[in-house]
Amino acid sequence: MLCGNGVLGELPDWRNPVIPGMSRPGGRVRVALWLISVVGEGRTFTKTELRSAFPEESQIDRRLRDLRDWGWVIHNSRDDVSLRPEEQRLVKCGVPVWIPHQERPREVGAKSTLNAAERTRIISADDHMCRSCGIAAGEEYEDGFATAKLVLSRRDIVHREGPVTTTRVTLCERCAKGGLSQTADVAGFLAAVEQLSPLERRAFSRWVESGKRVRGEMERLWGYYGTLPADARQEILHDLTSGTE
Ligand SMILES: [Zn+2]
Repeated sequence: MLCGNGVLGELPDWRNPVIPGMSRPGGRVRVALWLISVVGEGRTFTKTELRSAFPEESQIDRRLRDLRDWGWVIHNSRDDVSLRPEEQRLVKCGVPVWIPHQERPREVGAKSTLNAAERTRIISADDHMCRSCGIAAGEEYEDGFATAKLVLSRRDIVHREGPVTTTRVTLCERCAKGGLSQTADVAGFLAAVEQLSPLERRAFSRWVESGKRVRGEMERLWGYYGTLPADARQEILHDLTSGTE
């Protein structure tokens, strides 16, 4: 990626970029150059800093948002609740828009902003609860200090095949602040499931299918076994362990 070290020295100056093939680079190009050379990947900036860097550009907030359609990942406090409302973070640089004739990545752009209907669809697919701790919207936390507010957090999905895609998961604000892994490793998950014994794999597939951990006959029996008096447990132990020989 162009954000990496060693490329910065060759970047045009964000204040007055001189770019062959571009007569007068616009706000989008300049804000991209400002982000990469002044802010830096992984760092935060405020609206005030952005506006004071471009005092003559009245639409600089919009130019910044445009970059999301070019694969630039810029989070605000809605995407990442660890950010203050006035802060944004340059998570990842995208297409180097200062190089003429760049293609706009359709996939990334299409998923970079959510409308209300998409938010509702994702939260409803996540059963209106935090996928980390299980709390529902408006429910009170155990410590009684606050009620849960659900937010959407970005996740990169590593598929078994094909490129990494980005999606959202429903979390409560507290879990979102907890900084869970930003990657959903489907490929690794499936590889781990394949390591299970055939019996375990069948049981696990049943849980996945029904969306909850189904107590199998083995667990039901184990629960019952635990309630039995010592003499009864001893008899069962003796019978089962001698039966396996
Ligand atoms: Zn939670």
